[in-house]
Amino acid sequence: MQKIIAANWKMYKTRDQAAQCAEALADALRTAPANPAVLVFAPFTCLDVVAKAFAAIPALAAGAQDCYPADEGAFTGEISPLMLRDAGAAWVLVGHSERRHVLGEDDALVARKTTFALEKGLSVMLCVGETLEEREAGALTAVLQRQLESVFDALPQSRRDALEGHFAVAYEPVWAIGTGRVAGHAEVLEAHALVRNLLARCIGPAAERLPVLYGGSVKPANAAGLMGLDNVDGLLVGGASLDPQSFLQIVGA
Ligand code: PEP
Repeated sequence: MQKIIAANWKMYKTRDQAAQCAEALADALRTAPANPAVLVFAPFTCLDVVAKAFAAIPALAAGAQDCYPADEGAFTGEISPLMLRDAGAAWVLVGHSERRHVLGEDDALVARKTTFALEKGLSVMLCVGETLEEREAGALTAVLQRQLESVFDALPQSRRDALEGHFAVAYEPVWAIGTGRVAGHAEVLEAHALVRNLLARCIGPAAERLPVLYGGSVKPANAAGLMGLDNVDGLLVGGASLDPQSFLQIVGA
């Protein structure tokens, strides 16, 4: 199974700061094997400097944090997969909880973005996860099912058959993102088994080969414990990825 350790820099870092951080990661991982893959989801303005620092390093790739499902057009403020590839992105995050819950994206838009980005040659990391209210109302399964099925229902069969190496799911309980409250091991095991089963219902046995990452207050101190859990194939790291040394400790874990 391909493992992935991913950094989400969110809306942090100028181009100089991004270049310094990316070069520190490149220096540390220049000869590292390509498994685990180490991805950095950088702000749009920093993609080219991150991609340049990572060029020809097998373990490292740059990604964007969002995209719009069109090649070009009158969509002020948006950015297309073609533009992201042009700037050096190989991956894109879709459906991050901050986009769903702060920017108001719904499942239908997340599904359109996923399909379009894959069609345009970007690999997609799809974020799913429940809010605290949904968890407390016993809606974990229903939320994950809705978030995953809405994407797979929109994906043509030919795309579903070609996801390996180009698609990952990040399970991120909304109540654990940026809060310092990491999900307990039992909660992670339950949710990841659920995601794996739901993926299998959508795409069959190939689900076993799609990485499922955990995200939500991952730190150097809890990374190894999370990575040791069944069905945890990687980590998506926000706050603790901003400092390259802390992120490298997580990669090392
Ligand atoms: C994230 O941004 O996806 C995330 C998990 O953030 P944090 O690690 O800060 O909780």
